[in-house]
Amino acid sequence: MTEIEDEAIRLIQSTPEGILQSELWKLLNIDSRKCSRVVKKLIDTDMVDRLEYKSDGIKTYLLKAKKRAIDPGLLMASGELLPCICCEEECSIQDCPYLMDWMYQLAIDEFSEENSES
Ligand code: SF4
Repeated sequence: MTEIEDEAIRLIQSTPEGILQSELWKLLNIDSRKCSRVVKKLIDTDMVDRLEYKSDGIKTYLLKAKKRAIDPGLLMASGELLPCICCEEECSIQDCPYLMDWMYQLAIDEFSEENSES
């Protein structure tokens, strides 16, 4: 993925209600033709949905990031589920001991996997 495609998908993903293609090329500081090529690539790689949209009587497209199923493996560390799932604590991410313990376990798992491969 090119830098501009990466920037485009980040912009689209950061606006859950979608972003107009006629606005996207301005935000990316590229011309509309180049934007069309970027959008086509994102559609072809199944990252974005494009819906017809009229803005002030002018036809454009509304671009929305596709929702993807989360790999459950990404929520686990040593068989422990990410503590944020079903957490009822008042959240303070910066100093949460549950999250720190889980991330520490995740780091140990990754270190163990790397060493077992070599
Ligand atoms: S960061 Fe800690 S307090 Fe916040 S939701 Fe996750 S586990 Fe709960």
